[in-house]
Amino acid sequence: MSSLLINEIFYSIQGEGKWMGLPNIFIRTTGCNLRCSYCDTTYAYKNGEEKSLEEILEEISKFYCKKICVTGGEPLIQDNISELFTLLIDNGYLLCLETNGSKSVEPYLEYKNLFFSLDIKCPSSEMHENIYLSNLKMLRPIDQIKCIIGDRKDYEYAKQILSDNNISCNVFFQPIWGFSLQTISNWVLEDNLPYYVGIQLHKYIWGCTTGK
Ligand code: SF4
Repeated sequence: MSSLLINEIFYSIQGEGKWMGLPNIFIRTTGCNLRCSYCDTTYAYKNGEEKSLEEILEEISKFYCKKICVTGGEPLIQDNISELFTLLIDNGYLLCLETNGSKSVEPYLEYKNLFFSLDIKCPSSEMHENIYLSNLKMLRPIDQIKCIIGDRKDYEYAKQILSDNNISCNVFFQPIWGFSLQTISNWVLEDNLPYYVGIQLHKYIWGCTTGK
């Protein structure tokens, strides 16, 4: 029986991207292949419980919601992630896959009712050299990119990568928690960029806590 290492499953408000503000079920897998300097989910590096696909389905069925955010950690390092996607989609769920951008999304392009929320890691993450850049050309209009910005260098870095890759999906420039939203907004306006300035709504609602 297939299983995955799951850190937590919970029901909350999506705080980021195009589903921001909507109730979502969150399935957080355990383990990450990166170590971003600003990581706010370090608790997901190790803690978790092996759960069968059937147990996961049973656990989420108690929520009256059909939108699921599969997040981490990094979900794409789980051996049985494809089986999880298939199971959830076959049961009528719409999926957002949050991925750190270091693994190819190509094997998952065929899944209907699944879109990618892909990070571009910038220099202040200290993980920017791990980006799998070929992903950017595969993204479709339904997908989204999140650029986590901590300073002007990050902003310029993200801007350059985006302009080099002819991006067709929505892009969110989101400050590292504590960095100025106003500063990023001014930069986006000065450069006439067609990108969203994003926030982490869940942190405004509940603060920096787990399971929310
Ligand atoms: S990719 Fe996400 S979970 Fe992994 S270290 Fe970076 S911020 Fe943390």
